[in-house]
Amino acid sequence: MGKKVLVLGETRDGQLRNVSFEAVAAGKKVAQGGEVIGVLIGESVSMLANELIQYGADRVLAVEDAKLSQYTPDGYSQAFMAVVEQEQPEGIVFGHTALGKDLSPKIAAKLNAGLISDATSVEEEDGAIVFTRPIYSGKAFEKIIVKDRLIFATVRPNNIQSLEKDESRSGDATSVSVSITDLRTVIQDVVRKAAGGVDLSEAKVIVAGGRGVKSDEGFKPLKELAGVLGGAVGASRGACDAGYCDYSMQIGQTGKVVTPDLYIACGISGAIQHLAGMSNSKVIVAINKDPDANIFNVADYGIVGDLFEVVPMLSEEIKKLKA
Ligand code: FAD
Repeated sequence: MGKKVLVLGETRDGQLRNVSFEAVAAGKKVAQGGEVIGVLIGESVSMLANELIQYGADRVLAVEDAKLSQYTPDGYSQAFMAVVEQEQPEGIVFGHTALGKDLSPKIAAKLNAGLISDATSVEEEDGAIVFTRPIYSGKAFEKIIVKDRLIFATVRPNNIQSLEKDESRSGDATSVSVSITDLRTVIQDVVRKAAGGVDLSEAKVIVAGGRGVKSDEGFKPLKELAGVLGGAVGASRGACDAGYCDYSMQIGQTGKVVTPDLYIACGISGAIQHLAGMSNSKVIVAINKDPDANIFNVADYGIVGDLFEVVPMLSEEIKKLKA
């Protein structure tokens, strides 16, 4: 028999994040023909219900309150737990985002449930739901089957194919009323450091620079290439430590974990801590003047050369192809 699954519809700047649609697709697998319920939490979020339904949610519940206009662990956990109490789900799926990583353990602890964190795939095998997740900084993968009543997972952005948007489907949110109290955190201001419009963790294309970029000015050709490809700019910790860019751009073990379709590493040596954040990218292109650089061991395509010559040439050629 199918399960009832709650999926958190995460928003940013008033829009649903792509990972929410991927989480709905994962929720469908977990539900095994049961019901997928989208959960929206925020100040005025119910108008996003229709889009969540078009991406596969069967119905949507919204918890709205001015105190939920910004994410706080207390506020969101009170809101989400109210929905859990009302619906008694057998499955929960969040995106493995900064918010999902913060909120999911809190909810799992309240429910005395296990948590499959950072799943990169969800499949049904012989009637069981099998989650795959990376371990040892992405060097190996483990498969998990949950035997508890409740299956709770977070899914890594860009790994699970969202369902095709079906505009013939439509629906409104049903409101769940919760009294949000005792918030121990008050958000005064949100300061966004990352430059550019494309979110690094959800970007399909990332152009990343390392210490070989040599200065903040040196990131200019990388920004141009990212712009031509509609991608985002990332960095190694070497580049961040050298002060060439902000730490919000750092990719790796102690930075962001990304899985774009295309990762272009420029002047990055390929230290194991950097690979931990990007080695599962679908196609990796490395540009490095050292032919023995470790990054070439994970690259699908390697260009031995000076990035200041190669990167502008790539931008020009791609512009010509697009013209
Ligand atoms: P380098 O290793 O100095 O490499 C620079 C490269 O640029 C070289 O390969 C060089 O050949 C090439 N180059 C130079 N000039 C040019 C040019 N003109 N054209 C083309 N190529 C050129 N690192 C991360 O990235 N992310 C992390 O999350 C992270 N976490 C860490 C956590 C811990 C606990 C520790 C100990 C380290 C961590 N590190 C992390 C640091 C990591 O070990 C490396 O020091 C770092 O990744 C090196 O950055 P880099 O490749 O940019 O610099």
